[in-house]
Amino acid sequence: MSATQSDLVAKVVALCKRRGIVFQNSEIYGGIQGFYDYGPIGSLMKNNWKNLWIRDNVTRRDDVVLIDGAIITHPKVWEASGHVKNFGDELVECKICHQRFRPDLIDNSSQCPECGGEFTAPKKFNILFHTEIGVIEGEKIPAFLRGEACQNIYLNFKNIVDSSRVKVPFGIAQIGKAFRNEITPKNFLYRTREFEQWDIQYFVYPQDMDKWYEYWKEQRLSWYQNLFNNKDDLRLRQHQKDELVFYAKKAFDVEFNSSWGWTEMEGIHWRGDYDLSQHSRFSGQDLSCRDPTTTGKFLPHIVETSGGVDRSFFFLLLDAYREDKTPGGDTRTWLKINPQVSAYKMAIFPLASNKPQLVDKAKAIYQKLQKKYSVDFDDSSNIGKKYRRHDEIGTPWCLVVDFQSLEDDTVTIRYRDTMAQIRLNISKIDSWLQKKLN
Ligand code: ATP
Repeated sequence: MSATQSDLVAKVVALCKRRGIVFQNSEIYGGIQGFYDYGPIGSLMKNNWKNLWIRDNVTRRDDVVLIDGAIITHPKVWEASGHVKNFGDELVECKICHQRFRPDLIDNSSQCPECGGEFTAPKKFNILFHTEIGVIEGEKIPAFLRGEACQNIYLNFKNIVDSSRVKVPFGIAQIGKAFRNEITPKNFLYRTREFEQWDIQYFVYPQDMDKWYEYWKEQRLSWYQNLFNNKDDLRLRQHQKDELVFYAKKAFDVEFNSSWGWTEMEGIHWRGDYDLSQHSRFSGQDLSCRDPTTTGKFLPHIVETSGGVDRSFFFLLLDAYREDKTPGGDTRTWLKINPQVSAYKMAIFPLASNKPQLVDKAKAIYQKLQKKYSVDFDDSSNIGKKYRRHDEIGTPWCLVVDFQSLEDDTVTIRYRDTMAQIRLNISKIDSWLQKKLN
């Protein structure tokens, strides 16, 4: 890792704190590892990020519906999914590549067979967070916080088929929290213990798996590429045969070229009929569908796309972070982030905060735009500071009401990326902004 690259993470973390994007959770108590809170700016940005995903994967499609499932489910769900069994072993974890191994399967070696790293002491690992349902001691039912968001989709498959007009092939999408007792949370939002996932489970006829698998693989890569600046920092990586779970014919990750190497941002998984058949078996319910052509019954097969909302948001910030030298010799820090993700689409300032005519005119513009867009108004004194703040949070355009505005109803608009300025009539701002955002 080069110094500049390793600095990048530290700089983004510092920027996130300085500008209210992301804070360490419980910081006044010294913080707690693996948990983060989004601040005033970060909450808006993260919501925009999620809304873009919903817009492109649900709203603008005819074949994907959205659900929002509960975090706690019937405890049997995690038995059916294999999480209880597979995450209950004594394991050692490599401190470098974080692969976990059963000591007996690696001849109790003290070095990781993958990268030569040192191991943690063997521990009983279960990454699921335990909780209890009920209030009376002795009668509480043990339960888990979900370790992955997708289970709710399988659980509601029958409800959705019965209640909506979906027909195979179709998808069910969900954004939701997942909890994993990660042994080594690290790299800010990259590996945390509480995080959000965005998943699509796309249900297809078994014979169409290959076609839909390829479709979703390309679709998800290009979706990210459209929103990141450096397309070359995104790629698909195919899993080796020995990385595949037994029911997967193939697996790919959408990877990001981070400062600690290429790393997973989203998994495109071949799940076959594993999940629906497991839940049929454990629940005793028939989850099959009728094929309208043959009238026979079949279990749909699944292509899953499962990505991390916080992880990809962090990668988006790493991709967006810029430092430029200004002609005056200062450093300008700014986020080259897609305007659709920016917390504010425009910031509106009066040139001077002690001139009521300017302040009032700027405020009137702000109040009008606020009805339609997320915009910010700032009448603090120093215009340079205001630009700096909005550059750092990635506000794409700043509008300044100056003395000329009082005479001819035009304002200055400054572009974040180039710092170029144009003048625009106040009556045109709305349509100008609308056009820019589209
Ligand atoms: P990893 O190998 O990095 O632990 P995974 O293969 O276990 O990830 P999946 O179970 O496929 O991950 O989860 C789908 C997505 O959820 C990942 O691609 C990642 O973006 C995100 N994710 C998984 N674990 C975490 C975590 N601990 N913190 C933040 N995001 C996570």
